[in-house]
Amino acid sequence: MQNNANWSRKMTNADPEFFSNLEKMQQPKYLWIGCSDSRVPANQVVDLPPGAVFVHRNIANVVAHSDFNCLSVMQYAVQMLKVQHIIVCGHYGCGGVAAALEDQQLGLIDNWLRHVRDVHHKHFNVLNKKLFPLSEKKKLDLLCELNVIESVKNVCHTTIVQSAWARNQPLSVHGWIYRLNNGIVQDLGVTISSPEDISQVYRTNEEDSNVEMSADEELQLLPSGEEEKVGVADGQK
Ligand SMILES: [Zn+2]
Repeated sequence: MQNNANWSRKMTNADPEFFSNLEKMQQPKYLWIGCSDSRVPANQVVDLPPGAVFVHRNIANVVAHSDFNCLSVMQYAVQMLKVQHIIVCGHYGCGGVAAALEDQQLGLIDNWLRHVRDVHHKHFNVLNKKLFPLSEKKKLDLLCELNVIESVKNVCHTTIVQSAWARNQPLSVHGWIYRLNNGIVQDLGVTISSPEDISQVYRTNEEDSNVEMSADEELQLLPSGEEEKVGVADGQK
């Protein structure tokens, strides 16, 4: 409580209108979907003040199609606040992702981390190379990256995002990862800004629904090769 009183006084001293302006409305440009980890606070990581970022956080920055909490946050952010960027930000050394790599049961949370286990299963071959096996740390780092990338895709596959694109509302979805030991955010280079960037099977815009798949798009549905493109931040560690 004392911290709060000190902070409120400090902010008011710096700008007497700060809280009265914030009270009137919020116009954030960004929706942040991140991990609940106490070391990755959204506003501080990108050095933005209150009012600048709409935030949803959960363990391991999972975006699941059946999670109405996350979907509701996304809908409000996109339709009402008209954010222009959705940022999925994971972090290296994520405890949730690490737990999903382990064999032991932790209880209720195992049901949530099942989403991360599914990412592991989907990319099993690249994470468990027989010829040049990854160290445990590299494997965890790579799964942290892949988990962000899958969440980015899941955001784009929602009707919320696709309806925004159909309305020509500018909206980009980004995948970032944060490094705990230096505070640096890295862009994973998977930004998606239009339905053309996602697979045909996930496009829900009515105009598209009867379009036949092109050969290129059919090839994109095949699992082979996809694993080789991921891990884009690997070389920069
Ligand atoms: Zn985490």
